[in-house]
Amino acid sequence: MNATQAQEKEKTWLTKEKRPIVIAGPCSAETEEQVIETAKRLKATNKVDIYRAGIWKPRTRPNSFEGIGVQGLPWLQKAKEETGFPLTVEVAKASHVDLCLEFGIDMLWIGARTTVNPFAVQEIADALRGVDIPIMVKNPINPDLSLWLGGIERIEKAGVREIGGIHRGFSNLSEKFFRNTPQWKIPLEFKRLRPDLPLLNDPSHICGRRDILQDVGQKAMDLNFDGLMIESHIDPDNAWSDAKQQITPEVLGAMITEMVLRVDYEDVPQLQSELETLRDEINHIDDEILNLLSNRMIVSRQIGAYKKEHNMTILQQRRWESILDKSITEARKRNMSEKFIVRLINAIHDESIDQQEEIFKENT
Ligand code: PEP
Ligand code: MN
Repeated sequence: MNATQAQEKEKTWLTKEKRPIVIAGPCSAETEEQVIETAKRLKATNKVDIYRAGIWKPRTRPNSFEGIGVQGLPWLQKAKEETGFPLTVEVAKASHVDLCLEFGIDMLWIGARTTVNPFAVQEIADALRGVDIPIMVKNPINPDLSLWLGGIERIEKAGVREIGGIHRGFSNLSEKFFRNTPQWKIPLEFKRLRPDLPLLNDPSHICGRRDILQDVGQKAMDLNFDGLMIESHIDPDNAWSDAKQQITPEVLGAMITEMVLRVDYEDVPQLQSELETLRDEINHIDDEILNLLSNRMIVSRQIGAYKKEHNMTILQQRRWESILDKSITEARKRNMSEKFIVRLINAIHDESIDQQEEIFKENT
């Protein structure tokens, strides 16, 4: 066994040998009963490897629930005693690391709002020096691969050997479909640059809703991610944070059971041809186009509602002419055919009008 193999062998949870690695648990620890009950029901599914819970919650707005704090750590210890699950908790500063170590948390993760800040990541890395506990680093909220890789390098330099990435999507201003846009090209580039590190996908924070979790998780499996982190709650609608995206342990179990695990891309040489790579790229772009179109239709309907309320006509001829002119100018700059762009914009416009007509017909 060479030195690299010896290092691999010591890896306990963040390994590429078991696929998918499934991490599940509530967004936030809320009460002792909720923490223990969720763990037991997740254990019963037989699909989960590691139990997660947020203890300190980085919230976008003040006055939301900011986490139960240190009093939740003994509840997690109890959940581990009852289920045998290894535990993982989000840390955002050195004192969180110290408390997690004191309470026997088995692995830690750095959240998206912390990865953006090299000072904070360095503070965590310094607290980890000489500890060597497995660490996962979520992508930063902005789509900056270097910042993500840089965070991982800071942790590596502290001597941590078991490291993984978590792709949880990227903030956006106007996205309606996803809570955090996946931008799949970024995690794929992560995999290309760091093939040595396991990469997990967090469909919960990408979707922000339940109905598309399965599809996003499946897509991650199709792209050969190594695992999934999914939020689960015994009473999702009444969760104290991220209620819309959490699912019960039983739904989570069924979701993992239904996932199709395809063979490793790298094991099938003919799939690695350049043509396949280009097709893959086209697929991602098509996904993004569909997503943008669906967002556009949502905004169109909002405009429809506004026009209806203010007794305006649906077709505003001058506005439409200016959209068309602008699109033709932009298409020319990109060396695209004018004929094509006129056809495309007309099709989009026709559909927008249909959508607005539907709004006008609704009796409100
Ligand atoms: C979480 O996992 O609950 C969380 C806060 O995630 P993120 O850092 O991805 O927002
Ligand atoms: Mn959450």
